[in-house]
Amino acid sequence: MAVYFISDLHLKPEEELITKGFLDYLKQLQAAGDAEQLYILGDFFELWIGDDYTNPYIDMIQQALNELANSGCQLFFMHGNRDFLVGEDWAKANQCTLLDDPYVLQLGEQKLVLMHGDSLCLEDVEYQKMRALFRSAPFKTNILSQTIDQRLAFAQKVRGESQSSQQDKSYEIMDVTQSAVDEELSKHGVDLMIHGHTHRPKTHQWEHEGQNRTRIVLGDWTDKGWQIRWTAESGFELSSFDLAAIA
Ligand code: MN
Repeated sequence: MAVYFISDLHLKPEEELITKGFLDYLKQLQAAGDAEQLYILGDFFELWIGDDYTNPYIDMIQQALNELANSGCQLFFMHGNRDFLVGEDWAKANQCTLLDDPYVLQLGEQKLVLMHGDSLCLEDVEYQKMRALFRSAPFKTNILSQTIDQRLAFAQKVRGESQSSQQDKSYEIMDVTQSAVDEELSKHGVDLMIHGHTHRPKTHQWEHEGQNRTRIVLGDWTDKGWQIRWTAESGFELSSFDLAAIA
């Protein structure tokens, strides 16, 4: 049996290749028949303004996730900075279990920490301030009490401001702060971390206070998709695949 990790698909209707590639990916997981668990580690959706807003695109994704879940694969969902408003209603309708960020997972002998990754990018001080505000309960309650049109307008405004104020830098341009990574690993007593967000897919290995540590970074989906596949026999394998060539 295998466990899969993905992140940063940034799903939206305009991204037809990514959307079709993702649906094909889910079918492939089902066909392979070995997927015990799928972890979605944030920025699954490019934008989420509340579980009460739906459309045929959102319904289509929901149907696909349900098909995988009904085939016996457990689904887990961690928020990213773009879809932090995903709530319990969506999770329930999609048979996903919402995970805290960070989340400590035990797979076989290996204990590891899962994160989206944005909270590790401490050099982006402005972003961290905004993150603290957006993730606060009063802010979420306030935004979710607005009409759909108001929320869409707000999302557009934030997007525009983040582009101009950061000189066209998107959130993902900043990389993680190494000391924050080490602190997080030490806090949980683990030597392995998986995260996304930075769009810098890579396996990093280093030594910290005599301990060998590993950080596996998932890639964002473009014309390629990225995954980490874990089995007890092979461990963690980061790989990419051509989205046009699945299924
Ligand atoms: Mn992100």
